[in-house]
Amino acid sequence: MKYIEEYRNNDQVQTLFHAIRKTVKHPWYLMEICGGQTHAIARYRLEELLPPEIRLLHGPGCPVCVTPVEIIDCALRLASEPGILLASFGDMMRVPGSRDDLLRIKACGGEVRMLYSPLDAVTLAGKYPEKEVVFFAIGFETTVPVHLMALKEAICRGLSNFTLLTAFFTVPPAIETILSDQENKVNGFLTAGHVCAITGNIPYQRLTEKYKIPMVVTGFEPVDLLYGIYRCVCQLEKGAYRVENAYKRVVPERGNPAARAIMEEMLEPCDQEWRGIGILSDSGLKLKKEFESYSAKVKFASLFKEKKETSDKNIFQPEGAVIPFRETITSFPIPSSQENIVSLQNAAVSFSHQATASPHSCIAGKIMRGLKQPSDCPHFGTICQPAHPIGAPMVSSEGVCSAYYKYRV
Ligand code: SF4
Repeated sequence: MKYIEEYRNNDQVQTLFHAIRKTVKHPWYLMEICGGQTHAIARYRLEELLPPEIRLLHGPGCPVCVTPVEIIDCALRLASEPGILLASFGDMMRVPGSRDDLLRIKACGGEVRMLYSPLDAVTLAGKYPEKEVVFFAIGFETTVPVHLMALKEAICRGLSNFTLLTAFFTVPPAIETILSDQENKVNGFLTAGHVCAITGNIPYQRLTEKYKIPMVVTGFEPVDLLYGIYRCVCQLEKGAYRVENAYKRVVPERGNPAARAIMEEMLEPCDQEWRGIGILSDSGLKLKKEFESYSAKVKFASLFKEKKETSDKNIFQPEGAVIPFRETITSFPIPSSQENIVSLQNAAVSFSHQATASPHSCIAGKIMRGLKQPSDCPHFGTICQPAHPIGAPMVSSEGVCSAYYKYRV
């Protein structure tokens, strides 16, 4: 397959390993940002084949992993409300909120749909004008424009029953947080090619200059990843620091002007909470005032207020941990029919009454800041596995713990 096989070619891979071994003279910590890169690294066992001087750290680029519990609880609350149809991508279905997940709400009678595109949610809004259709839209700069396109389509079609429940993240503030940490070990970054395909490379130039650290725009196949590592090591060994594009076949220097234009038109920066990391200033994007009527957070604010008042004390777990909800799931009443959905609604509100501090210490936040590895977590592969995850990185298809579990256990 063109553009795939040549970037998995064994001769190319061996040539790059050889070049890296020849170049590296000092120990370096490199961080790949994106969860897709982390999975490719684990899948192709690249980490084990690198010279011992190079250690890879795995950054906060899995959107499912950094989505705060509070917003997931908002999605659960909406999904349990009669008359609301909540749709999202498959990845979000099993991510635990403070006490449950969307699949469980669906099993209890909530109207939850797993879709492949937010445009399908717009279609649903047209088909069911009597329902409120909410698309649970999370993501980095890569996917944000797709959600906005769907919203524009809904506006064009005059669909006032379509809203977005958003958690939009931007990468540069997260990198800055990692670099400002006194414990920071990262010497160089492999930035996510698909994010840069939208934003271009300019947002990273200020960071390289301020922190004197190389950043290499990198792709997702083994040859791309090894080439990114090689270019980063070349800079580090020479004492250089600049943004370098090692993924030119996809990333134009200035990104995608059309995608950036729709983001500038509809969104503005906001402080955003990152699960396991905390609230980072201006690290999120929210709908501008003129589009607020399409924000589920605004339109259904009264539902969230009701929930917040019952849950302020215990909804957020600072290290990215979630309640091991499967231990308490039997206490949750399952409505036997759509009529019983009111009991579901009440139960969703009462989740937070039952929530207590997790007895487990999920270290996802430390892993995403490059301070720990999944293997440092005492729960990894024991009580925390994809079938019964404790933290989001074990649930998500881009999570670092699920990558280690899938390819290294
Ligand atoms: S293995 Fe589980 S508990 Fe440990 S850091 Fe990963 S998600 Fe959290």
